[in-house]
Amino acid sequence: MLPFLRKDLVELAAYKPHLGIGVASSISSTPTQSDKLDTNESPYDLPAELKEKLAWTYKELIETNRYPDGGHSLLKQAIAEYVNDSANLSSNVFISNNISLGNGSDELIRSILIATCLGGNGSVLDAQPTFSMYGILAQALGIPVVTVPRNPENFEMDLEAASTAIETTQEQPVRTVFVVHPNSPTGNCLTAAELTWLRSLPEHILVVIDEAYFEFSQMSLAAELSQHPNWVILRTFSKGFRLAAMRVGYSIAHPELIAILEKVRLPYNLPSFSIAAALIAIQNRSLLLESVSQTLSERSKLIETLSQYPELQISDSAANFIFLRFKPGFDNQTNNALKSLHLALKKSGTLVRETCGGLRITVGSPSENDRTLNRFQTAFKNLEL
Ligand SMILES: *Cc1c(COP(=O)(O)O)cnc(C)c1O
Repeated sequence: MLPFLRKDLVELAAYKPHLGIGVASSISSTPTQSDKLDTNESPYDLPAELKEKLAWTYKELIETNRYPDGGHSLLKQAIAEYVNDSANLSSNVFISNNISLGNGSDELIRSILIATCLGGNGSVLDAQPTFSMYGILAQALGIPVVTVPRNPENFEMDLEAASTAIETTQEQPVRTVFVVHPNSPTGNCLTAAELTWLRSLPEHILVVIDEAYFEFSQMSLAAELSQHPNWVILRTFSKGFRLAAMRVGYSIAHPELIAILEKVRLPYNLPSFSIAAALIAIQNRSLLLESVSQTLSERSKLIETLSQYPELQISDSAANFIFLRFKPGFDNQTNNALKSLHLALKKSGTLVRETCGGLRITVGSPSENDRTLNRFQTAFKNLEL
């Protein structure tokens, strides 16, 4: 190991990124055209008319020799409007100074960690299973991560364990709590009890509510945000808005927190092209979000069909993915059946994510989902259970 490197980073398991177009198909055993149902993207590209608009913007308005608008002013305004609108709030509740933009919400997670915990200032708490980036980014910054479990049946957080962890973590006290609403990979929304617990947290603890799947769940805590200066909501253009390639996420919070997030981010964190794409997406949101209702009915189809396997436990989901596991007694300790199922799906051309002892499957287009169900049936028949 190179002697100047931090030892803890050498051991850190990084996020395994999605293989890009053409890459996935060039590695062995993966068919040329795979259905990519492992990263919860939308199955649909931007409609051609919006791509035209974006191309026109690029050609006519973007000067590639100039730095982007580092203040993101137009986009912040449009987002504030969308947030108010989608929470039925009057148009002045959230304004530009309640919004900060990130290169994906991943960047915002990192900025939040820098703003709250870095330099021995505190620890992060999350409830597993959940989105892996909170832990990965915290570890990369040398921030301790305190993990509490979830109920294995319904994936509710173990709130007693969480309270105890907050009371007993002393050297670097818990400074930031991460929750996802609805959670990934399990799909469940925050319950009334979890909400009560979040509301009861003291003001010196920041609560991060990740609403990456808001466009599917239509569940948001935005209306309550003004009462809680220690809450921040994260959203992204990567899922319902179909812009994963552009890397745009945003946070909604008290202006004092937003000011710090703006301070710690890189000055030109969003390329001009990404800013233009996000603006076009938000201005044309009714067109883009038309596909959401299809995703929801396709999700029901997947859940209904897969629920017919008596060996499987399928979770309810408020997002654009489903999560399934073997019921106790149908797989062994090392998840061999799950692994075989995952591999067989991959070999037949459906990429899904194996995580936390289960499979997370993105809801794709109707034909992708039909293929998922067919391939699943074949793979399942060949399992030795
Ligand atoms: C997909 C996802 C994100 C989005 O990350 P980006 O960096 O904006 O692409 C954030 N949080 C959760 C829980 C997600 O599943």
